[in-house]
Amino acid sequence: MATIFTKIISGEIPSYKIAETEDFYAFLDINPNAEGHTLCIPKKEVNKIFDLDEATYIGLMKFSHRIAIALEKAIPCKRIGMTVIGLEVPHAHVHLIPLQTMEDALFSNKQKLEPEEFEAIANKITSFL
Ligand code: 5GP
Repeated sequence: MATIFTKIISGEIPSYKIAETEDFYAFLDINPNAEGHTLCIPKKEVNKIFDLDEATYIGLMKFSHRIAIALEKAIPCKRIGMTVIGLEVPHAHVHLIPLQTMEDALFSNKQKLEPEEFEAIANKITSFL
C-alpha cells in the first residue's frame, strides 16, 4: 500500500511543496516543531533511510543540502538542524528544522499554523532556491 508520502508526491494528498526533482520531493511538515520545518524524501518508497541504495541516499543528502541553504536564508534561526526518525511514516525522510533553541529539536514542542501561514512560509523558502 502506498505511504502517505507517496500520496503526497502524486498529489493525492495536498502538501505545501518546497521543491521537486525527478527523484526527490520537499514539503512542509504539517505538524512542525518550528516554522519552516521541512521534510525531504526520495520518491522511491523505502521504509528506512539506511536501506536506501547508496546513490539515492547521497542524492537525498545533496537535495536536503540545497533545501537547507534556502531554509536558512528564509527563516530567522541560529542554524538548520537535521534529524532522521521515521517512527511515524514508513517512507525514508529527512527533517530539516530551523533551530532557535534546543526545544525546537524536540518533537514535543509543536507549532500551530494556519493554512495562509504555511503558504507564506513555503513561498518564502522557494524564493531562496
Ligand atoms: P517520523 O516518521 O520521522 O517520526 O515523523 C513523520 C513526520 O511526518 C511528522 O513530523 C509528521 O508531522 C509528518 N507528517 C505526517 N503525516 C503528514 C502529512 O500528511 N503531511 C505532512 N506534510 N506531514 C506529515
